[in-house]
Amino acid sequence: MIIVLASGNPHKREELAALFHGHTLLLPQDLGVSYYHEETGSSFLENSLGKAKTLHQQLLHSGQPTYPVIADDSGLSIPALGGEPGVYSARFGEKELGRKPSYGEQHQLLLDRMRSITDRKAYFICCMVLLIHPDRWFISQETLEGEIAFVPRGTGGFGYDPLLYLPWKGKTVAELSLEEKNQVSHRGMAARAIRAILEHHLEKNPHEST
Ligand code: IMP
Repeated sequence: MIIVLASGNPHKREELAALFHGHTLLLPQDLGVSYYHEETGSSFLENSLGKAKTLHQQLLHSGQPTYPVIADDSGLSIPALGGEPGVYSARFGEKELGRKPSYGEQHQLLLDRMRSITDRKAYFICCMVLLIHPDRWFISQETLEGEIAFVPRGTGGFGYDPLLYLPWKGKTVAELSLEEKNQVSHRGMAARAIRAILEHHLEKNPHEST
């Protein structure tokens, strides 16, 4: 089945392409659609549903077939910081630096905030939406729990992966291969649930399987 991903993030596409193996995962630009959605929601669900609805509208206006849309809103939550950076994970540090920070700068700013904090528990959250019609959509929200490392470690993945240490693996998420990350991650778990729903939908509507 062709699915369109409401994202411009190439790392997310790489992870999701493996998770939706056997289906065709397109980005809006692959269809010549310029997708933009301002993330104004106060929850991962509001943002992911907003992204999916915006892309569905944009596909419709551009005369594209109504392919199912998948959107993911994700981030890092640190209970000792009141859940920060949370839904603002992508923009964390923008105020301090007056511009978009690099991942490395975000790591440093976060480690500075954590310097005197002993409770280092943290988790990634992924809220994934499968939207078939503006009033017909499915959600799955999952977490990956760990601890904030004292120094960033690893070169895989993206975003805060070098900072989330998984004690039961003895590694940060950035030290996992793509396959290992997908097996245990917030996005991997959410995607498997969404994939099962998609395939159930496909069984009931086989004419939509192009
Ligand atoms: P989004 O594109 O609005 O969902 O923003 C997600 C932001 O959260 C990214 O820019 C990353 O900083 C962070 N993030 C989301 N998922 C992950 C992940 O799997 N690993 C590390 N950081 C992530």
